[in-house]
Amino acid sequence: MTDGAATDEGSAVGGGAGAVADAVDADETIDLLQEMVRIPSPYFEEHDLAEFVYEWLDARDLDPEYHHVSEPDITEYEGDNVVARLEGSDPDAATVLLNAHMDTVKLVEDWEEDPCSGRIEDGKLYGQGACDMKGGLAAVMVAFDALADADLAGDVVLTAVVDEEGPYGLGTDRLIRDGRVEDCDAAVVTEPGPILAQEDVDNPALLLGARGRFLYDVEVRGRAAHGSQPNEGVNAVVDAGRVAEALSEMDVGSHPKLGDGSVCPLMLEGGSQTLSVPERARLMVDRHVVPGEDEDLVREQAEAAIASLDVESEVEVGFREAPDPGIVYGPYVTDPDHALVGALADATRSVAGADPEYGYFASVGDFNYLGHRAELPTVIVGPDGENIHGAGEFVYTDEVVETARIVAEGARRFVG
Ligand SMILES: [Zn+2]
Repeated sequence: MTDGAATDEGSAVGGGAGAVADAVDADETIDLLQEMVRIPSPYFEEHDLAEFVYEWLDARDLDPEYHHVSEPDITEYEGDNVVARLEGSDPDAATVLLNAHMDTVKLVEDWEEDPCSGRIEDGKLYGQGACDMKGGLAAVMVAFDALADADLAGDVVLTAVVDEEGPYGLGTDRLIRDGRVEDCDAAVVTEPGPILAQEDVDNPALLLGARGRFLYDVEVRGRAAHGSQPNEGVNAVVDAGRVAEALSEMDVGSHPKLGDGSVCPLMLEGGSQTLSVPERARLMVDRHVVPGEDEDLVREQAEAAIASLDVESEVEVGFREAPDPGIVYGPYVTDPDHALVGALADATRSVAGADPEYGYFASVGDFNYLGHRAELPTVIVGPDGENIHGAGEFVYTDEVVETARIVAEGARRFVG
């Protein structure tokens, strides 16, 4: 149970909010969030939470189904998304996808309390994944439940997915590869909002795009020699250091809304344990991209930067192995004039009594799969908090409730 922190806004819906937003109960939303925070669900270990989500929907006759996610080759992962659909009365009306991930990062060790406490104090609910993104998950679940009682023309599809925080985003990847989002016209993802935005924005906010991301390795092969005679060999560690510096200083693309691309060498390993000139080193590089920068361009740019150094080592750029060539975190920008943006903006005015601020997401996630791969106009709207992925992570409970109301009202307006 909550300690009452969420009860103050029990009926504090802004003037003129619709019946769907009014159907979102603040206490029920926060209780649901607290229950879900108390079920640990680091990526690849989402089973218990998936079962909880399924049963919560089933208890409300919302006809959930498990959608199996299997990746036998690299991760050997087996798990289940939970999917449900509300059918509207008009097959020609728009369909909206509501997407939230059930997994969190691995529980970090620095917590000074149980990382799954769900403790509420001063309007903040604490726990690993409270903000990223069980707050958003609770919001779409109660929004979906509220929408079930409305007269809808179009369909609303709820997808609670696995493995967003882990490698590859296997849950949403599988939805796309199995054609489960093909009939959707637009998507709402309730990831934490402003705290992960590119620029200073405050909730209520709508984030209309995100940069993309590639991860690549640079293999550096030098030549071993006795460590007392470094000139006799080719030092792979020294050359890898020069490569890291050159890559981090190279010019990258820019976009009027998404800002600049970026290059960040993340890891450098190599060396010899004995008295030898190191013959191998490996550099792992993060590259955030803007529209127009694809894998081929990223590779060409890296190779050109490396070639200009004229190092003696052999240097090779390689992209990490993925379960499917379609798995790419491409950048996307959603048209601010799209009907979903208008519907969510109207809903924000109705629920929060204020215009939304607009921004763009700084990093990547399942929304890239929806916005780029599936080419769905995709909007991120979600509750804020702090210490995301770290110890002391929390979400503001009133923003969870507000997100649920905005999503419910915005979806109703979009599907008609
Ligand atoms: Zn997230």
